[in-house]
Amino acid sequence: MDLEHVAIHTFTTKPWNIDQCIDGYARHGFGGISLWRETVAGEDLGRVRKKIADAGLQGISLVRGGFFTGKSAEERARAVEENRRAIDEAVALGLPMVVLVCGATPGQIPSDNFLQIEQGLEQILPYAEAAGVRLTVEPLHPMYAGDRSAVCSMRDANDLVERLHHPLLGVALDVYHVWWELDLFEQIERCADEQKLWAFHVCDFKPAMSHVLLDRGLPGEGVCNVGIIDQWVRDAGFDGMTEVEIFSERYWAEDQDEFLKKIAASVSSLRNPYLESEQ
Ligand code: ZN
Repeated sequence: MDLEHVAIHTFTTKPWNIDQCIDGYARHGFGGISLWRETVAGEDLGRVRKKIADAGLQGISLVRGGFFTGKSAEERARAVEENRRAIDEAVALGLPMVVLVCGATPGQIPSDNFLQIEQGLEQILPYAEAAGVRLTVEPLHPMYAGDRSAVCSMRDANDLVERLHHPLLGVALDVYHVWWELDLFEQIERCADEQKLWAFHVCDFKPAMSHVLLDRGLPGEGVCNVGIIDQWVRDAGFDGMTEVEIFSERYWAEDQDEFLKKIAASVSSLRNPYLESEQ
């Protein structure tokens, strides 16, 4: 894969500030950047937007909105307000899309969380429409179903997005969260057929992970079969950038330039071993 078609999430190089991220990604030949709100907190967003453009990078997504669930109406209203702020930030940064981790509140059953997510999206979509910003639902692995997202599979995400049926609502596929689904190929095709597959995130899932959030692997280090999913996504018609999103305390402890070299090597060698064995 050509690095011009690869974007890096700023949380991937967490030790770096926004200027180091922009300079570093451009220096290593990557084509795009997805901005975490944490990385740009307190920054002059207009300045960041200009620096991204001057570096020749394409801004892909703002990460992240969502977290729509809550036990009280006040909490849920605050969540809608926070999503409005995220949309405002995306506009200021010139980003076309906000990625949503939809939320789950401990103590509520998953179907109630899911319903609150649907209601939160209904409230925020008119604001996104007025701003011209796309929202992408990112399903999370079910190990996060209790406290991060009641949207736990591509099937859930497709169901939700089809039911709300809004032109600015789509899906972000992250291999870490959905690699295990038996009908993943069918759900990718379903999503793409609806013109809703808008983002593609890669890293890898290591079964012997040391931390449930912060020990993700480079593509190829785990069991996601990233090369196969990459081909499915491309064959289904997705032509956006591949976004590298790795949370790893192990890699954050390294020199981040060395880490970016490892990322470049791993995404450049993504392949589908099934195809090769057939040849
Ligand atoms: Zn992701």
